[in-house]
Amino acid sequence: MSHQKSSATSDKADSPPREGDIPSRLVRTLFFPDAAFIEQKYKDHQRFAAITLAILAVYLTLLWGWDYFTDPIGARVTFYMRLAYLLILPSAIGIWIGTPSRRFLKVAIPLTMLLAEVLFVGILHQLDNGMNVGLGGFMYVMVILILVTQMLSLRFAIVCTLSAAALPQLMAAAGLAPLLPVASYGRLIWPATGLIILIQVAIAFHYLQRYELEQRLKLLSDTDELTGVRNRRYFMPLLERELERAKRFGQDLSLLMLDIDRFKRINDAHGHPTGDLVIRRLADLCRDAVREIDVIARVGGEEFCVLLPGATVAHAVEVAERIRAMVETTDVENPRAVPLGFTVSIGVASLNAGDATGYDLFGRADTALYAAKAAGRNCVIAQHGKVPAT
Ligand code: GH3
Ligand code: MG
Ligand code: MG
Repeated sequence: MSHQKSSATSDKADSPPREGDIPSRLVRTLFFPDAAFIEQKYKDHQRFAAITLAILAVYLTLLWGWDYFTDPIGARVTFYMRLAYLLILPSAIGIWIGTPSRRFLKVAIPLTMLLAEVLFVGILHQLDNGMNVGLGGFMYVMVILILVTQMLSLRFAIVCTLSAAALPQLMAAAGLAPLLPVASYGRLIWPATGLIILIQVAIAFHYLQRYELEQRLKLLSDTDELTGVRNRRYFMPLLERELERAKRFGQDLSLLMLDIDRFKRINDAHGHPTGDLVIRRLADLCRDAVREIDVIARVGGEEFCVLLPGATVAHAVEVAERIRAMVETTDVENPRAVPLGFTVSIGVASLNAGDATGYDLFGRADTALYAAKAAGRNCVIAQHGKVPAT
């Protein structure tokens, strides 16, 4: 049996964030986020960053008008330098359609911003008294950085901001920006940098709160309220995906379908609240019987599915029989404190070449379950026939 990690693996690890330690956890996630958070942040801001970059490219080019009013002679040279800003447009389009990898963008975005800044230093050097009248232009880069770096991690965004602030001073120190009024620049840029970093933290915090809320809602919408296992809405698309994956990689995949025997009688004799306790208990027993990568879902009132990625039919029957036997020997605690046992019937189906969709596998497990009911209940029926209760 193959034990390759399945996409279903992460399901069991999902749990709503604990209430108690929320502030420290939020701060930790803000500065040391996990890969899933970063991926989502990137996706959520991808198009926003693309639009921002496109506007930036056009705007910085059109600012040639400012060059012209400042110094019409120098502006003849800066015209061509300004046109270079249009080179940002292809990267904006690339980000919009999602071509470049995140790793590439992590290098490309800061590099683009820094090159834009180097170009701006060059432009100011071409204009008469450009450095003094155009010093405020460095603020443009800083402000745009707030927007563009939202798709990256906060730590990285802060590093980009600090680098952009320091770059002209470093250029001056290296003799590459001889006309930069270093002291004035420092007085302008560093207090602004502090404010910009605070804004970046605030925006990142705001996004994180929204992300956490979305994760909670997603988990709630995928979870069965009574038992805490997955619900049908989550399970059916998952079954489809797992079937596709198993077929593609030639792996085994099995499905158990469980139904509590004579459950109406339990409800009638003990009441619906006690019936609910029985349903919950079955979910707990299933949890105890399966591996981390298996997925349990409540697909009907007292019907459950257990998806076993990588499991052959023989292994699935073994698991089903384990659950059936555990149920048979379980007494459910109940308000009346009367002995309350129950049994389940289980149908087992395993992936075969003829299964085109998850519903085919689902249908065969359901047929096997009906056969188990017909065979007298409290038993496991697989495609290969009845497994007698021991
Ligand atoms: P069988 O052995 O053939 O399965 O007989 P059964 O009585 O269990 O029949 P069936 O599976 O059709 O019974 C489903 C019953 O489950 C009917 C309904 O009253 C009950 N039920 C469905 N959802 C819930 C629930 O959330 N809580 C409780 N307590 N009962 C539920
Ligand atoms: Mg039923
Ligand atoms: Mg039933």
